[in-house]
Amino acid sequence: MKYLIRLDDACETMDLNKWLKMERILFKYDIKPLIAVIPNNEDDMQKINPFNKGFWQWIKGLETKGWEIGLHGNNHVYKTNEGGINPIHKRSEFAGLSLDDQKEKIKKGWSKMKEMGFSPRMFVAPSHTFDNNTLKALKTESDIRIISDTMAFYPYKINDFVFIPQQLGAVRNINIPGIYTFCYHPNTMNDSEFSHLDEFLSKNQKKFTSFKDLDLDDLKSKTIFDRILSFLYFQFRKLFR
Ligand SMILES: [Zn+2]
Repeated sequence: MKYLIRLDDACETMDLNKWLKMERILFKYDIKPLIAVIPNNEDDMQKINPFNKGFWQWIKGLETKGWEIGLHGNNHVYKTNEGGINPIHKRSEFAGLSLDDQKEKIKKGWSKMKEMGFSPRMFVAPSHTFDNNTLKALKTESDIRIISDTMAFYPYKINDFVFIPQQLGAVRNINIPGIYTFCYHPNTMNDSEFSHLDEFLSKNQKKFTSFKDLDLDDLKSKTIFDRILSFLYFQFRKLFR
């Protein structure tokens, strides 16, 4: 059983104080998360602080400390009401758009990251939603071959892409063996969520690993067990929506 932490919505106008608070907590327990960076944010919801010139340098510093830097779409603006192949939400920056439109987005996001000195290995779709065209666009417009987002117990590979599961929105102990990613949005976290995380890490630090330490070679394709979990999860959500 291994746990991972993913932090979404890092961008030039994020809530810096909250991110610094998250950074302090994770440093304290030596936990190296995946940070999903919005390269060209145009989402008003993510315009919280004034433009921060030091943003990219701060991200670089975290990367040198072993944090994984991922590409979180391009501008974080939802264009469709599609759920795609991981329908956590019925909204997407990508799912449902034409291949050409998606290529354009990936190209813009990828080149901004390169310009800032990053070569992300992982893609994190805004709202967790993407489709097969997103994968095709990633293949032609970037070097990214790893996706953080799927309902499963272990990472698996389909064609050229490795999928790392992302199941929960907050830390908790799970008694089924697997690799679990807890996804946080520091911009919208309150004090009690920060202290809950801090307390959990103080007791469960040893169960956490980093994305760089995951062994992603020789992965099998999705197991029957994972297919069932995925099916049940989305059926369950449909019933209670
Ligand atoms: Zn996001």
